[in-house]
Amino acid sequence: MSLLRHKVIAIHHTGAIMGINRIQFQPGLSMPEFLKGYGTEAQCEQALEAVRWPQGFHCPRCAGTAHSVLRDGARKVFQCTACRHQASLIAGTVFQGTKLPLTTWFLAIYLISQAKTGLSAMALRRQLGVSYPTAWLIQHKLMQVMADREERYVLEGSVQVDDAYLGGERTGGKVGRGSENKVPFVAAVSLTEENRPLRVRLTPVSGFTSEAVLAWAKGNVAPGSTVFSDGLACFGAVAGAGCAHRPTIMAGRKPKDMPEFKWINTVLGNLKTSLSGCYHAFDFQKYAMRYLAAFCYRFNRRFDLRTLHQRLLVAAVTAIPRPQRLIRVADVCC
Ligand SMILES: [Zn+2]
Repeated sequence: MSLLRHKVIAIHHTGAIMGINRIQFQPGLSMPEFLKGYGTEAQCEQALEAVRWPQGFHCPRCAGTAHSVLRDGARKVFQCTACRHQASLIAGTVFQGTKLPLTTWFLAIYLISQAKTGLSAMALRRQLGVSYPTAWLIQHKLMQVMADREERYVLEGSVQVDDAYLGGERTGGKVGRGSENKVPFVAAVSLTEENRPLRVRLTPVSGFTSEAVLAWAKGNVAPGSTVFSDGLACFGAVAGAGCAHRPTIMAGRKPKDMPEFKWINTVLGNLKTSLSGCYHAFDFQKYAMRYLAAFCYRFNRRFDLRTLHQRLLVAAVTAIPRPQRLIRVADVCC
């Protein structure tokens, strides 16, 4: 068990960032640039419309293109000339049903996508000038969008894996609460042929058993991949998912000291920093999947910071709208 301790990602610790410097100094989209493009409701409507209907309005009912534009209060509504169907600009997107101006949502998308180490709901509340529950919901809806997007990818090729835990014995400030609020997850990073990190996946699991690891491998790693792990026996189960397994025997060494695990350790170090700096104690059991997916979303798009907000907008527009009750009660899946 002592071997695992360094892998516990507890938010009261501060971890050193092991740099990926080339990426850290990449200029993002500046706030003035962002406001110039998305500072008014009309600009946001136009951007949303362009993402929703790149070739111009298409009636969702009859596919007609002739239309007129109406106003329902502040909202733009498209009425199909052929069948009279009315389509609101925000219906069928993650913004569906919102009372907030689009400028608030766009600013949230900008802030969340540009914040290198994540953004707490409290910080979002201050920056958007909304209530805490509203900021929390915006944050979780956008994190769910990121999680849905990440679902579309699996890792392939050379994949380093490690067992890790979210939460720790002192999380929440109460002694003894940690064990209930500790979420095991598989940390995995695929590597290029030059041995550089390509994609990351952080997946909550029910525990480190062969069954859980097999289910994880089937859903997250392409058959034919090679999985590198330490000697933890359950990782041998990846063979059942068509992967080759290359365990490294520790022989008293710690994984953090071993070059074989350099990238997975870097990822876990960055995750630790991100969580300790930006998120206050949260319900790991309920929301771990979303926080971890948001980290992966950002990491996996780290080479393209300038367009990250645009990509998140596209994801938000094409996301399945989820009502508040689903956002709040979502359970950790494995
Ligand atoms: Zn129509």
